[in-house]
Amino acid sequence: MTVKDAVQRDFSHDYEPVSVLTFHGRLQQLDYRGYRLLLDLEGRIKWIEPLRAGLWPGPSSALRRTMGNRWLLYDSGAYQDVFELTGRYYFPIPFGQEGAAFGTADSGKLRKVLALVDEAAVRFGFPDSAELGFQAAKLRSILKATVPVLPPDAICIDYDILPLMLTRGCVHNCRFCAVKTSAEIETVGQEEFRAQVDGLTKWTGRDLNNYQGLFIGQNDALAAGQRCLMQAAEHACGSLPCDRLFLFGSVASFMERAGLDQPPSSALEALARLPFKEVVVNIGLESFHQGALDYLGKPVKAADVRQAFRQGLELAAKHDRLKISFNFVLSKALSRDHMDLISQELAGAPKGSGCRVYLSPLLSESWRPGQLKRMLFRLKGLSRLPVFAYFLVPYL
Ligand code: SF4
Repeated sequence: MTVKDAVQRDFSHDYEPVSVLTFHGRLQQLDYRGYRLLLDLEGRIKWIEPLRAGLWPGPSSALRRTMGNRWLLYDSGAYQDVFELTGRYYFPIPFGQEGAAFGTADSGKLRKVLALVDEAAVRFGFPDSAELGFQAAKLRSILKATVPVLPPDAICIDYDILPLMLTRGCVHNCRFCAVKTSAEIETVGQEEFRAQVDGLTKWTGRDLNNYQGLFIGQNDALAAGQRCLMQAAEHACGSLPCDRLFLFGSVASFMERAGLDQPPSSALEALARLPFKEVVVNIGLESFHQGALDYLGKPVKAADVRQAFRQGLELAAKHDRLKISFNFVLSKALSRDHMDLISQELAGAPKGSGCRVYLSPLLSESWRPGQLKRMLFRLKGLSRLPVFAYFLVPYL
């Protein structure tokens, strides 16, 4: 949809982090009452940036709308050491998440800005917030699922991700988890997966080429097994323009404890041979300490977690295009042993595997930025792998 009076602009296609807030891809630009509105090629609002001093959310910050009609505040000025914490020059702060690690962004101010955008939508003829809500619901019905969170590495391409579902539910259903659906794991048939690709392509429309990343979800795509995962990934790779694939794997699927048709290592090696620039797999390990795993209600053995970590490092070191990242939990309730064991493993990890580590504070606890920073920087000082904070970004 070409929006009246909008100017088409080509922004960078390069996602290397730069020290100012940057936009990506081909977008339509309108300036309205002190704000720059950037719309995708179907006229859906994607970015809102203040052009004048004194307007919220302030200089070097912008509001970003996800495909699922969720708003994020990209805040690049609020805290020091942003790059060290996130690997980017901004924090993505979701709206409406009570108890988020860095507090909740101001929903009242967002509502005022969105009212202004709705005014512009009527004047220039692009979808307003009601229509965008309707479109997001349509997308959820195409996938028959939500994307409550994206893998942490998706920040490297600024969450420009097309989502597809190969499995729904989760193998582990950990007690502490805020994103699980509590459903038994279910694998989607190839026919349904292909229908999702068609539905998603139609839904995305002319904006399709603005997406470099593909996420095959939901919380454990590895649980689908090699044959099914390969068929799905090959089909998606041939049908969509994305050159990076992201997925989550559970410890059980990664460690052959989920009754898979082939060892997960061979599934990942096969994926790495597909013509993606990168295949990025994120495994939620949470802790090497059995007491911590029990406290979190994660039904895995500490020995399996350690083995998954070491096996992941080995696999990634063998394949340039395969990147593996690992999540660990930060909690004030866990004993010192939890952090000591993480420090030991990270200090002994080989360099240059391309693996990354993410630390995620429990959503039920509130962390001051300084506390989190101290914890993370201590670990960074010891670790031979890059370590970042992981903020849960709800997407769809
Ligand atoms: S394995 Fe991950 S997604 Fe599944 S319940 Fe546990 S923490 Fe949540």
